[in-house]
Amino acid sequence: MAILDILVYPDPALRAECSDVTEFGDKLKKLVTDMFETMYLAKGVGLAAPQVGIPLRMFVADWNGDRHVIINPEIYSSEGAERSDEGCLSFPGIYEDVTRPEKISIRYRDENGDHHDAAAEGFLARVFAHETDHLNGRLMIDHLSALKRTYLRKKLEKKVRSA
Ligand SMILES: [Zn+2]
Repeated sequence: MAILDILVYPDPALRAECSDVTEFGDKLKKLVTDMFETMYLAKGVGLAAPQVGIPLRMFVADWNGDRHVIINPEIYSSEGAERSDEGCLSFPGIYEDVTRPEKISIRYRDENGDHHDAAAEGFLARVFAHETDHLNGRLMIDHLSALKRTYLRKKLEKKVRSA
């Protein structure tokens, strides 16, 4: 097991276009294990591969003790809208209101390559939508106003410089 470095905004790798996972072997299983370890240590509920500098379409999540390994996800329908507080391991210490769908339907594969079709609602739908955004180079901050974005970028750049 290994703890991976979590990239912090505005690291350009967070904007990378991610490719589908095509190899479901031991290398992928090790990455999944490392991503869970890294996420638990950082006390997060979700972590996407591009956040650790790996441009692959996959993320891990743990909500209420349920572990989710989501590979090559496609959110093919969504319903409703809910505005709530949201955080991100790539925006340490920042929590902002973001509007997300109340319910989503998602197709994905797991670490064995098996196909799944699932529905999620409430907080889990929020996590899945947030993490799927990461795979498209889209970040929490993109859901906020331009003014708020500039303010948060300056705040985080200052933090990176003083680290
Ligand atoms: Zn995030």
